[in-house]
Amino acid sequence: MPNPLDDRAVYTFDDLKSWEVKRPGLPPSLAVLGHPVAHSVSPQMHNAALAELAKKYPQLKDWRYFKFDVFPEQLPLTLELLQQKGFRGVNLTVPHKTDSAVLAFADLHTKKLQAVNTLVREGQNWLGSNSDGYGFIQSLHRDLGVNLRDGPEIVIMGVGGAARSVVIACLEEGCGKVWVGNRTPEKLQNFVEQFNRMKPASHLHTLEAFKLAAPPTEKWAKNALVINATSLGLQSGDPSPLNVSLLGPQVKVFDLIYHRQGATALVAAARARKLSAADGLGMLIWQGAKSLTLWIKALEGIEIKPEDITQTMMNAACGELAISPPRNV
Ligand code: NAP
Repeated sequence: MPNPLDDRAVYTFDDLKSWEVKRPGLPPSLAVLGHPVAHSVSPQMHNAALAELAKKYPQLKDWRYFKFDVFPEQLPLTLELLQQKGFRGVNLTVPHKTDSAVLAFADLHTKKLQAVNTLVREGQNWLGSNSDGYGFIQSLHRDLGVNLRDGPEIVIMGVGGAARSVVIACLEEGCGKVWVGNRTPEKLQNFVEQFNRMKPASHLHTLEAFKLAAPPTEKWAKNALVINATSLGLQSGDPSPLNVSLLGPQVKVFDLIYHRQGATALVAAARARKLSAADGLGMLIWQGAKSLTLWIKALEGIEIKPEDITQTMMNAACGELAISPPRNV
């Protein structure tokens, strides 16, 4: 079993089976489940925030956050074991967010999204929610100065779980028209069909779909917000999902992906054209901070808001990603 104080340690399903519950009552552990998950900086972010909070709230002293590499077929039993071993909260990352094993725990709002990234222990059960949309909205506002209540048109590339969280959040905030593009036409068609079920009843705007290979950039609003929610850009050397030279000077660009090595191809190309552009690191921090507040909300005498811990989380993430100086959040 790896050293529990090593934030880079990656645990397995077998480690969980032999996980020792030493303390009386429920040991305050948290976990992220993914496959692969080694690249995740969530343990660094959460353990730094917990250490900082423990100075004021000693009841958080022993809390630790661990990462587990779990295969999809191991997920149902992993969730059961995490309950038995007294874990208080779980994050889900690729490919588990849309797995039926976690969707079974989704609260009403999250059911609509069909993507869960946070499980909170509720007695013998889990309650599933999704903090990605919240993280996106916070970062968008702070990193790009965009307020969706002003009704900007949004263009979203990708139709996976992250795209769904982002679109719902944009609609709920009051964005204007939505364009959505994807590589695989069948999945794009499914998304279009889901859209009317997902959108808030009050939202009047419609959705227009496009092929990712042929984006109708000339039809997009001058001040559109263009969002990459595809996985294209995750690998270093990946090309930009969009030819940025087709965009007008007032377009703003948000890439959900962030890189250890610096800007993604999309963000680098946008900045080279002097467009406002942000990557996904701010979103990662805000969604993580939101999840942590949900897990410790039930503790008596502790009241924290995401903004109380975001800078500590950002410093820890930048330290691990070797981004110097750490970014402000
Ligand atoms: P997902 O459910 O697997 O969806 C992936 C999407 O990317 C699909 O629309 C897929 O299109 C598209 N795609 C994959 N490879 C592509 C390629 N080579 N060219 C064009 N499109 C491609 O993943 P997800 O959970 O939605 O995550 C999407 C991205 O958002 C990931 O990169 C993830 O790291 C990032 N993310 C970041 C944060 C954050 O906090 N910053 C949070 C959540 C997610 P097809 O339908 O054609 O396969």
